[in-house]
Amino acid sequence: MDTGFYTGLIDRYRSILPLAKDCKVISLCEGNTPLVRCRNLEWANRKGIKLYLKFEGLNPTGSFKDRGMTVAVTQAVSEGSRAIICASTGNTSASAAAYAARAGIKAFVLIPDGNIAMGKLAQAMMHGAIILQIRGNFDDGMRLVKEVANEAPVNIVNSINPYRLQGQKTASYEIVEALGDAPDFHCIPVGNAGNISAHWTGYCELAATSNSNVTHACGFCDGDCSFITSPKTTLRPKMLGYQATGAAPFIKGAMIDEPETVATAIRIGHPQSWDFAQATIKESDGWFYSFPDDQILVTQKLLAENEGIFCEPASATAVAGALHDIEQGNIPDNSTVVCTLTGHGLKDPDIAIKQSNAMLVTIDAQLDSVKRTILDNL
Ligand SMILES: *Cc1c(COP(=O)(O)O)cnc(C)c1O
Repeated sequence: MDTGFYTGLIDRYRSILPLAKDCKVISLCEGNTPLVRCRNLEWANRKGIKLYLKFEGLNPTGSFKDRGMTVAVTQAVSEGSRAIICASTGNTSASAAAYAARAGIKAFVLIPDGNIAMGKLAQAMMHGAIILQIRGNFDDGMRLVKEVANEAPVNIVNSINPYRLQGQKTASYEIVEALGDAPDFHCIPVGNAGNISAHWTGYCELAATSNSNVTHACGFCDGDCSFITSPKTTLRPKMLGYQATGAAPFIKGAMIDEPETVATAIRIGHPQSWDFAQATIKESDGWFYSFPDDQILVTQKLLAENEGIFCEPASATAVAGALHDIEQGNIPDNSTVVCTLTGHGLKDPDIAIKQSNAMLVTIDAQLDSVKRTILDNL
């Protein structure tokens, strides 16, 4: 029964998700995130560019990972699984822990020792995950998770789990529904490269419903997307994947063993969806590019100060990319551009406070002092 009351993306997009009809849905009402039009970034307005931010930080655990996790955990539970496992730079562990709690199953999460944002660690701890801090980075954790899944009864919920990408593709559906068409460009940060691939899957499915020339590797529907009834678009965006300079295997064209960046969510040297992401860039006629940490942080602050949106550093990489490519003319005037803001800024308060030069003055608890500060700073 459709009461108009939003109950999560599985209920909303059931017909395009590969789940059994009678499965018990594990949901926290994820998805349905706002698509916010930029109003104050003048450089964009000047060129007639419509710049939108898909704020995935407003998902239940504060990142887009929830889109994939609801589908992956629903499937795991319907297969009878009692435990899930993931390697994580932070957000996957937070999401896995929350959905496992909701499902009443166990979550094991492997995180890099140090280098995890405090908010993300707090989430995994509060939701009762069993946390394994490994002396190694995300890529080491990923290798271990794949090995142990062969030896113990645990279900991997990293993005190598195809149900994750199926859930994440729904973001493209929401964007097309909101805009009435696909954007011309979609800018997105790239770490393990699952999300850029998931978005492309979504856009391809949508285009395939109205254009029989569009074929794609969606994995579940074998290119027959006739079951998708709405919305319709013939357009597919150019996909632009952005990395941090210290963790940019796609720019190098090869895996990297010691990735380093302040944007810990994309501190990944061995992306698991390498081939899929390469195909995405090629098919969509898009490109990869990378930015140094200082530019990523400046962009994070620019968004927070000018648009009132606080995203985490990895997410700001997408906007750094859009800004750069608009300025360079790689994105032509009058284009419609969507940037995915993958996670919420509150995830990583330490980085925010450290880089902010916000005015913080200590004054006497007296009217005069408050008044003087106001008058001095108007
Ligand atoms: C996971 C994550 C990414 C990277 O997504 P991939 O699918 O691994 O490329 C980017 N930003 C944030 C905030 C994330 O949590």
